[in-house]
Amino acid sequence: MKIDEIISFLESRANPSLQEHYDNAGLIAGNAGWDCSGVICSLDATEEVVKEAIVKKCNLIVAHHPIIFGGLKKINGKNYVEKAIIAAIKNDIAIYAIHTNLDNVLHGVSGKMAQMLGLQQISILAEKDNTLKKFFTFVPVDNAAAIRKAIFNAGGGNIGNYSETSFNTEGTGTYKAGAGSHPFAGEIGKLHQEKEIKIEVIIPAYLESKIVSAMKDAHPYEEVAYDVVSLNNSNQLIGSGVLGELQEEISEKEFLGLLKQVFNLSIVRHTIFLDKPIKKVALCGGAGSFLISRALAVGADAYITADIKYHEFFDANNRILLTDIGHYESEQFTINLLQDILEQKFPTFAVLKTEVKTNPVNYFLG
Ligand SMILES: [Zn+2]
Repeated sequence: MKIDEIISFLESRANPSLQEHYDNAGLIAGNAGWDCSGVICSLDATEEVVKEAIVKKCNLIVAHHPIIFGGLKKINGKNYVEKAIIAAIKNDIAIYAIHTNLDNVLHGVSGKMAQMLGLQQISILAEKDNTLKKFFTFVPVDNAAAIRKAIFNAGGGNIGNYSETSFNTEGTGTYKAGAGSHPFAGEIGKLHQEKEIKIEVIIPAYLESKIVSAMKDAHPYEEVAYDVVSLNNSNQLIGSGVLGELQEEISEKEFLGLLKQVFNLSIVRHTIFLDKPIKKVALCGGAGSFLISRALAVGADAYITADIKYHEFFDANNRILLTDIGHYESEQFTINLLQDILEQKFPTFAVLKTEVKTNPVNYFLG
């Protein structure tokens, strides 16, 4: 199997166009055309993980964090980034990063945290705008079913938990075929009327070209009429953080105990107890301070994230229990998520989890 096949599948779950503008997700080292000997999933593609990949004969590391983030001007092994890249290139190890694109899908980094906590009715905490489009096309009645199918197969027509959604109206299309044309029906130079169906579907903006070309391939007309319109609707499947509910409300103390148990924590940093039970929980893997105001706005009882700064703890305003469980700790199950995604698709292929604990942060508990 080529590395390209693995990347394509990962990108069908978290399209690279969903990454944030500052990010550097994608194939960081190596060649997508290589045959893949095995995959190691990790949070960080450090030199230790590259060495592990060599020993375990896996020539692809699928990591959450891009090891090259801010660009490299020299590669002489002076820091951990350069060391990892040199080791990867010398040993023909490919490094692929699936970062904020995996943060920005419902069943991504935060969705996995919610699953581990047993949250119910999960939804995106901050949905992204301008990620949806409306797509219309006009097709002969007898071809409508096949063209709808092509559009759905290419990723159109998904709304929340519903797939294959469309609206269809019947009408009459007209055309006059010109010299050199090969009309589907009617004669050259004569006005033709054709009973047509107008198919309307919602599509993710990033799939526009894929859906247009799938529709064109299935369409019998030489010149296909279609419209793509940008929408202001937010997208229920794309955005950052996750909101969900515990099966039953629990006390703040019990909640912190649950976090310690599920995420295997030695400590939790948190704001003052408000003597309020916890049921509605917002969370975001990694550095999620930017969603504190959103967690407050949706009325969450608690917000779980990492990398909260001193002054940001004040933003709780005695209205929410803010908890900082550590960056690595919050994202640790992303390794399992990546392995699960790949094993489902490639059940007989070697997909390993790293045994290197790449967390650079330690806690001294005395
Ligand atoms: Zn992170």
